Amino acid sequence: TKMVYYFGKTKTEGKGVGKDLLGGKGLNLAEMTSISLPVPPGITITTQVCADYYKSGQKLPKGLMDEVNDGIATLEKELKKKFGDNKNPLLVSVRSGAAVSMPGMMNTILNLGLNDESVVGLANATNNERFAYDAYRRLIDMFGDVVMEVDRDHFEHAFTAIKKKYNATLDNEVPAAGLIELCNEYKAIYQKYTGESFPQDPMKQLELAVEAVFKSWNTTRAVRYREVEGIRGLLGTAVNVQSMVYGNMGQDSGTGVAFTRNPSTGENKFYGEFLIDAQGEDVVAGIRTPQPVAEMSKWNRAVYKQLLEIKDTLEAHYKDVQDIEFTIEKGELFMLQTRTGKRTGAAAVKISCDMVKEGLIDEQTALLRIPANDLTQLLLPSFTTESKSHANVLTRGLPASPGAAVGVLAFTAEEAVERTHNGEKVILCRKETSPEDIDGMHSAVGILTSTGGMTSHAAVVARGWGRCCVAGAGEIEIDEKARKIKVGGKTFKHTDTISIDGSTGEVMAGTVETSEPKLSGDFAKVMKWADQYRTLGVRTNADAPADSQRARDFGAEGIGLCRTEHMFFEEDRIISMREMILAETEEDRRAALAKLLPFQREDFVGIFTAMKNLPVTVRLLDPPLHEFLPHDVKAQKEIAEILGISAAKVKSRVAQLHESNPMLGHRGCRLSVTYPEILEMQVTAIVEAAIECKKKRINAMPEIMIPLVGTAAELELLRGKAEETIEKVIAESGYNGQLDILIGTMIEIPRAALTANEVAEHAQFFSFGTNDLTQMTFGYSRDDVNTFLPDYTRLEILPADPFQTLDATGVGQLVEMGVSKGRKTRKDLKCGICGEHGGDPASIDFCHNVGLDYVSCSPFRVPIARLAAAQAAI
Ligand code: ADP
Ligand code: MG
Ligand code: MG
Repeated sequence: TKMVYYFGKTKTEGKGVGKDLLGGKGLNLAEMTSISLPVPPGITITTQVCADYYKSGQKLPKGLMDEVNDGIATLEKELKKKFGDNKNPLLVSVRSGAAVSMPGMMNTILNLGLNDESVVGLANATNNERFAYDAYRRLIDMFGDVVMEVDRDHFEHAFTAIKKKYNATLDNEVPAAGLIELCNEYKAIYQKYTGESFPQDPMKQLELAVEAVFKSWNTTRAVRYREVEGIRGLLGTAVNVQSMVYGNMGQDSGTGVAFTRNPSTGENKFYGEFLIDAQGEDVVAGIRTPQPVAEMSKWNRAVYKQLLEIKDTLEAHYKDVQDIEFTIEKGELFMLQTRTGKRTGAAAVKISCDMVKEGLIDEQTALLRIPANDLTQLLLPSFTTESKSHANVLTRGLPASPGAAVGVLAFTAEEAVERTHNGEKVILCRKETSPEDIDGMHSAVGILTSTGGMTSHAAVVARGWGRCCVAGAGEIEIDEKARKIKVGGKTFKHTDTISIDGSTGEVMAGTVETSEPKLSGDFAKVMKWADQYRTLGVRTNADAPADSQRARDFGAEGIGLCRTEHMFFEEDRIISMREMILAETEEDRRAALAKLLPFQREDFVGIFTAMKNLPVTVRLLDPPLHEFLPHDVKAQKEIAEILGISAAKVKSRVAQLHESNPMLGHRGCRLSVTYPEILEMQVTAIVEAAIECKKKRINAMPEIMIPLVGTAAELELLRGKAEETIEKVIAESGYNGQLDILIGTMIEIPRAALTANEVAEHAQFFSFGTNDLTQMTFGYSRDDVNTFLPDYTRLEILPADPFQTLDATGVGQLVEMGVSKGRKTRKDLKCGICGEHGGDPASIDFCHNVGLDYVSCSPFRVPIARLAAAQAAI
């Protein structure tokens, strides 16, 4: 098979071969060549060769260097130069380039082919000795670094000494004599640290360089980069060997990098930098200060004009923003790279809208161009780049929930609530949070924890609210009693302000300035397009009126999951809740529940009002009861006193409720089976609230959802009880208007999915609770998964965290089966999803494909889900 592809005037073989084999850089060099842009000719060695290199125990495949040789021969003919020649030598660069861009994986080697003889040839042919030795010193430096791992500092020191000796401040002020001297020193350094002399045979240089590129594919930093970015399944890197053009030939030469549009705002304005008399990475390395690309017209008008034309050609060809690299050799422009430009969420939205206006792309393409997840950036306040640049970063935790928060430190939930109430902005700082901290978390502007991962309680809850959260910042020592933290040798008291960045995990001292998000006209336009193309409904998970309203503003078409347990954690309610749990007789339990009823009703009135004319799926109580009881002795004593019972009693009840596997224990519908009065109270509250709304001409549309059903018989029993209660409440209220309350269930136990045809006999809707369904299908405890899951994704045992992206292969089968079996029994069965997956674009794609009616996600993810649903439908 062909290992080497040529690009140039003679022929361009790589066009259409594909990124997989040629790498992004190689393919685009071939493509730019084929549309007649000025690209220095060269060859691309395929990624397959890299794969073969590793398969054969790190040996270059037989015949490779012959093919490379042929390529070089064609280059020599095309350019009328000769590799290693002492008159007019051909020089090349050796560049890595995988199918996915991996910046910083390997340094490029420039000016390869120079040796003690050809450097003289180059000086003569160009009549520029200074330039020739500048090229040579760069080669020895880069070759030494990349191929032989000589520490660049050694070269750096020698260069500094020479600059001093010749009174030069800048690198391009060193005269030819100085550079000649420097090359000799570089060769000596090379000899000293490698034990060999710098190779004089150009073909040998090339072979070693090609091998070094292949080796760079598996360096720790490259492997780590792929891990972090989730890049998998690539063959390896391609190698591009490209004839050199020189930006370091004097004041009429230079090199630069640019974006065809502004990548951070999206503004349609050429954006970039260039540097006169420079080569390669000089621009980004900060050797000298580059100039903005707009200044180029003053330096060379014709070249600038040509560059602008090429910019338009590239956008017209790729129909997307390009990130380009170019070089000017004695007034002649050459293109060295182009790729799709990375951009912020805001830029993605603006660019998509602009390009539709310009007729470059259609609406569908525009929608597909915007990474749905990146919309998060448009929905949250963020730190300004300016203020971030001089922030004092104390430590870094996990970027658990994006956003920017600035506040004083609070150490308990109660403190957070109280101080917020008094007008302070607080950041709740805890080792880890628990459900009891909910109130404090809600009132805080940000949450900071020293333990716990991306799926810890704090992280999940914070993401749900779009609240900024940094989790697992292990370097922070929290002293809750003394109300202070210690980090990086510094101490911060409860009166001190810190800033946390939930998008990066940074914890910073003092106030870092933020800017509020602007929902621009373009953003609204994108949402409108998305609604036109999507077929999936988008609901929200919300259990408070304010969240419901926010979700509605973001376009939610109802509530897919209203959890009722959070409603019981507020001060007065938790007491009644505990009283109910501690009660010994049904009678006492009912008495305690009766105290909770008005609270619940009030909550529902608020939510139904915020969601008028839209369905609200209310899930009945789900967690095991022990979660509501205090576990420390002091709190147990307190509740005992309030309720007038003995502390021993409380303690024994807590012990009694203890379960070895609470997630598989007495929870969900199982609670209602043993304590039907809980279900009765909740259903009563729902129906009374709906009637109260209706009387105020507010169209409440409640749906009752029974969680954790595993058998049809469970649902049959509980549905019966719910229906009885509904009828009873309606009768007692004397209401005689219309009130259709659907009753359905969550499908979150594998058995329910397997027997969905039976379950559907008693359910008017299914909502797939994919958090529990994933937990139970894999047998992974969702709360403890961080002990091993990182290893599983690292070793590629799993392609992704199944709690973040729905496992389509396994868990997905259960969803698919649930839908089809359920609809066989009940044709109009409404099916939705309400797990965390409902806000994940890849999972939304799956939901679309299996024919769900809607997804439900946290309010802040609603716009993301709308876009992802459209993308799934296009
Ligand atoms: P990276 O992937 O790190 O950007 P590149 O392979 O693009 O590395 O090379 C970095 C820079 O080296 C390019 O932007 C360009 O300025 C310079 N360069 C590479 N090949 C050549 C060449 N054939 N002629 C002139 N400069 C080159
Ligand atoms: Mg590059
Ligand atoms: Mg569940």
